[in-house]
Amino acid sequence: MQEQPEDEGEFRALDDYLQRLQAGESPDRRALLEKHPDLASALACLEALDRLAPPAGAVTLLQSGDLQMPAGGPPCDFGAYELLAEVGRGGMGVVYKARQKSLDRLVAVKMILSSHLASADHVRRFQAEAKAAARLSHPNIVHIHEVGQFHGQHYFVMEHVEGMSLAQRLAIAPLDVDSAVRILAKVARAVAHLHRHQIVHRDLKPSNILLDSNDEPYVTDFGLAKVFAPGSEMTATGVIAGTPSYMAPEQAAGRGAEIGPACDIYSLGAILYEMLTGRPPFAEENPLDTLMQVLSREPTLPRRLNSRIPRGLELICLKCLAKSPQDRYPSADELADELDRYCRGEALAVKPPNLIQRLWSWTRREPALASRLAALAVFYVVELVNFVLGAVPASFHAQITAITAAWILSSFALQQCLRFQRWSIPARFFWGVLDSAFLLAALLIADGAASPLVVGYPLLIVGSGLWFRVRFVWFMTALSLASYGVLVVEFYYWSPELQRNFDRAPDRHVVFIVAMLVTAAVVAYLVDRVRALSSYFGQRL
Ligand code: ATP
Ligand code: MG
Repeated sequence: MQEQPEDEGEFRALDDYLQRLQAGESPDRRALLEKHPDLASALACLEALDRLAPPAGAVTLLQSGDLQMPAGGPPCDFGAYELLAEVGRGGMGVVYKARQKSLDRLVAVKMILSSHLASADHVRRFQAEAKAAARLSHPNIVHIHEVGQFHGQHYFVMEHVEGMSLAQRLAIAPLDVDSAVRILAKVARAVAHLHRHQIVHRDLKPSNILLDSNDEPYVTDFGLAKVFAPGSEMTATGVIAGTPSYMAPEQAAGRGAEIGPACDIYSLGAILYEMLTGRPPFAEENPLDTLMQVLSREPTLPRRLNSRIPRGLELICLKCLAKSPQDRYPSADELADELDRYCRGEALAVKPPNLIQRLWSWTRREPALASRLAALAVFYVVELVNFVLGAVPASFHAQITAITAAWILSSFALQQCLRFQRWSIPARFFWGVLDSAFLLAALLIADGAASPLVVGYPLLIVGSGLWFRVRFVWFMTALSLASYGVLVVEFYYWSPELQRNFDRAPDRHVVFIVAMLVTAAVVAYLVDRVRALSSYFGQRL
């Protein structure tokens, strides 16, 4: 202990804090330090000693997340290392800049949260896999010096990289295209090296790529709880591990048997996407929403977000992000070769998609618009056939054509509004209002409540469920009921001629309205379930 609290009040406060800690309570460390800031360095040293001989049954300090190195405070002893300062915290633990006493060199010590190594089996696997990773030697991979346990605290020691992570670098300023390609090519070569040693990283992301002062990249955080060889136990468990925005679809779906090097190629594509556009391909507020998009949606074309991206580079990025592993680059080395070809201005191996592939990926990028266009196309073709066969008059055909055209044009306009964050919610509601208004207009021209087109209302309710918002489902239900109510009034009072060929009894309308309500209740229930699952996984991921 280098500094003693002189004031007796401070000493008593510290004594009281330590006694409560030993009694298994969780005293408020921050409140203590706010009241007695002079205690900071004394407390840090006591905590280091506490790690040397933790009392049986006491909560370890790292578990409680309380081990904080005071800036400018004295170093803390940690076995063969001296912890100098905390450099960052992530989902798995805390990283410290440290000095290895025997060799007098700087290292980084990562302490793993005990919740990540819950069972003895986890510990055994972690150590075996970290040892395999420690045998690797590559200029762009952070070298692991040691893996071990010190008084119950699991840690590993790695080369210290003086600089910052790619995530921190991107938060300061975007990278230019050439630097992004140069960095990714080196990272891809490093990942190829991991793959040659049967290691799939599975959590490649900007915060796991460190950059030194010359922007030289170093891949880190492989060989941790996530390292495994194909065919090992972890592949079979189907656990979802990783970070949703950078996770390959097969990993997001928990298809353990399919997880392999292609997952890392996908993540490399996601990192390139972020370096080029400033945001990952999919990043929703809720991790489960992000996972759903990873599984079924196509990302916005990078050139839409940054027009300076060359077309060839966009193709390389999208090939890495292909949903099917077979459509990605077959190996990280081939991705690196492609990036080298791109740098030299040579012809690329990736080919632009054909018309059908482009159409298919467009429908996955814009599902709301694509589904409306498909439904309207079917409706219009049926009407056109009727017109050609002489079943409907020309004036009716002209009116339906005008409604369909207006519906399509307004759908295109609203789909553009959805791209802007602040417009997306009003645009979604306005789109719903327009859908039911156009359907009502088409029905008023046709046979109203007696037309088979009324099936459009339950379809609107079911479709509203795809936005995964319970309130929106009920909004569309209310609109559909109001709109159908107008048709019922028309049927009985405004256009009694409609009753000529149809049953006048009101029971058909009652049954239809009840069916709409039941449909809405089922859809709202399902959406509610999905949202509950979503927030559950949101807390876990
Ligand atoms: P995750 O737990 O998912 O990996 P993360 O990558 O954000 O999340 P950590 O791996 O704990 O968190 O790393 C936290 C920070 O520590 C990193 O962002 C980086 O700035 C720093 N860091 C990690 N390893 C080193 C190292 N070897 N040398 C220097 N700084 C490092
Ligand atoms: Mg990390």
